[in-house]
Amino acid sequence: MTKTLVVQDYNHPQLGTTSTFTVDEKVRREIERNGIRKPKGYTVSYHANPEMEKMHFGPKHPMKPWRLTLTNKIVLAYGMHEAMDVYIPRAATPQELKDFHREDYIEFLQRVTPSDNTWDPIQEAYAYNTGDDCPIFDGVYDYCSLYAGASLDAARKLTNHQSDIAINWSGGLHHAKKTEASGFCYVNDIVLAILQLLLHHPRVLYIDIDVHHGDGVEQAFWSTDRVMTLSFHKYDKEQFFPGTGATHDTGPDNNSSPGAHHALNVPLHDGIGDSEYIRLFQDIVRPCINAYCPTAIVLQCGADSLGGDRLGCFNVGIKAHGACVAFVKKFRLPLLVLGGGGYTARNVARAWAYETSLCIGAEVHPNLPAHTPFLEHFGQEQTLFPRLDITQRYENKNSKSYLASLVMVIEEQLRYLEHAPSVQMQYIPPDLGATREDLEREIFDERLAEVKEENRRRAERRA
Ligand code: ZN
Repeated sequence: MTKTLVVQDYNHPQLGTTSTFTVDEKVRREIERNGIRKPKGYTVSYHANPEMEKMHFGPKHPMKPWRLTLTNKIVLAYGMHEAMDVYIPRAATPQELKDFHREDYIEFLQRVTPSDNTWDPIQEAYAYNTGDDCPIFDGVYDYCSLYAGASLDAARKLTNHQSDIAINWSGGLHHAKKTEASGFCYVNDIVLAILQLLLHHPRVLYIDIDVHHGDGVEQAFWSTDRVMTLSFHKYDKEQFFPGTGATHDTGPDNNSSPGAHHALNVPLHDGIGDSEYIRLFQDIVRPCINAYCPTAIVLQCGADSLGGDRLGCFNVGIKAHGACVAFVKKFRLPLLVLGGGGYTARNVARAWAYETSLCIGAEVHPNLPAHTPFLEHFGQEQTLFPRLDITQRYENKNSKSYLASLVMVIEEQLRYLEHAPSVQMQYIPPDLGATREDLEREIFDERLAEVKEENRRRAERRA
């Protein structure tokens, strides 16, 4: 027997000749099929820490970090990672979180556990607003520091010019306040990321397409002209969380405050559909960018504005939601893309995977790749673009004239910004310095006093 017959080179099977490819080979085929490659002329980075996906708010809670698993699986199944710089960011340090949040609140999050008896559950839960919406679950602090760490990492990649578009789908938790949790959000990663951007950028535009008002971000930058906040959301003061975000709420009433006219709100009614939503978004975002001249944009892509969302009430489809991302991308400004709400996990994953493809400029085919893990969760419609308005749960209550009036109101507000502010880079937004500390301490103490009084009355009644 000759040596050549025993030692023979392995012939790699040709693509398309067998159905027993490894996952790697299947992904390679998707990359070829969809023409996925690094975008020309700009860099996209993807910031995802898999530790986030294991977190659990509790079986009945609508917030499911597992939606991030589904999103990442679709992104990987199409091979979109080939076109991006992928980072596993470290958790934010307590000190980094305290750049916005008050020290005692972060220390509370660090020490509290569901079974811990050393904290006073009534007083502290009340003061920090933890409870039903924002439960204390195992690992809650790790969860907060991971999603905030990912947003900070993404913001830093933009400021040091390693990325032009940086994506963190685990972030975008826009309701969290300086000293309290709110609406499933504990730590406000958006505020922290914008603070990071402000170290290098004179003006940041924040755009929020979550179905809920971006109240935490608006409040944090209420008194500064270095951030303009623009939120599109369902508004009903009495019936829909958080009940803020009317058109007339545009910043401090005092016109001499730098923040006056820098908080813009687009309050919507139930049932807005694709074409109206895209048109409204473009008709409002374009003049905002032209008037404010931001040097960076943060886009919160809350997916609860999609039709069929467990908590939402719009009829927006995935292509229309993505059209907002594509539109903002066209302005070619450093762009931080964040997640947010989204409570029908399969549609959240479809939207964010599709929006990732828009960021890298890939035209992916709509059928989810057959090797996508958990494909059964997408039901019969194994596509990126199922019809989401089909249930007609919410009739469109936004008349043409109402939508036109919203555009007019925003244009009117923008007239107050005669020219883009020429700020000094060392200028610190007043909300974020020590100026409000005393006031916040007073409010906090008042709330604690209320709880103590209530407890005293209860004890009296029992006695
Ligand atoms: Zn939301």
